[in-house]
Amino acid sequence: MASSIFTKIINREIPAKIEYEDELAIAFHDIQPHAPIHILIVPKKEIETLNQATIEDMNLLGHCLLIAKKLAVLKNIDKSGYRIVMNCNRDAGQTVFHLHFHLLGGKQLQLNLG
Ligand code: 5GP
Repeated sequence: MASSIFTKIINREIPAKIEYEDELAIAFHDIQPHAPIHILIVPKKEIETLNQATIEDMNLLGHCLLIAKKLAVLKNIDKSGYRIVMNCNRDAGQTVFHLHFHLLGGKQLQLNLG
């Protein structure tokens, strides 16, 4: 299977503005930001969507959420507020099929849940 565009970023085959990386995950700025802070937190393991996640991925998913929180503190949006989003499949608008969390903040976000 061809590697995802996010795996290409992990492997430094294409550039990205990387904010954080460890052995399990990477976080980089979204190329088309929807807010002043828009960072993607991506597990290095290629999981297509949340539908493919299993109990084995429980710690990995929690790890990504804690990275998002750490970045919110680093970017000084922890007090003002932020939103974590994960899209799954077509109706949610998922475009990259390598599971990821969006961290959004730095402005008053519209409450549009669908
Ligand atoms: P999704 O719609 O799948 O939840 O989110 C995918 C996100 O990845 C989109 O917000 C899109 O702008 C971002 N994205 C797609 N390709 C690239 C890329 O090559 N580099 C970066 N930094 N972001 C990307």
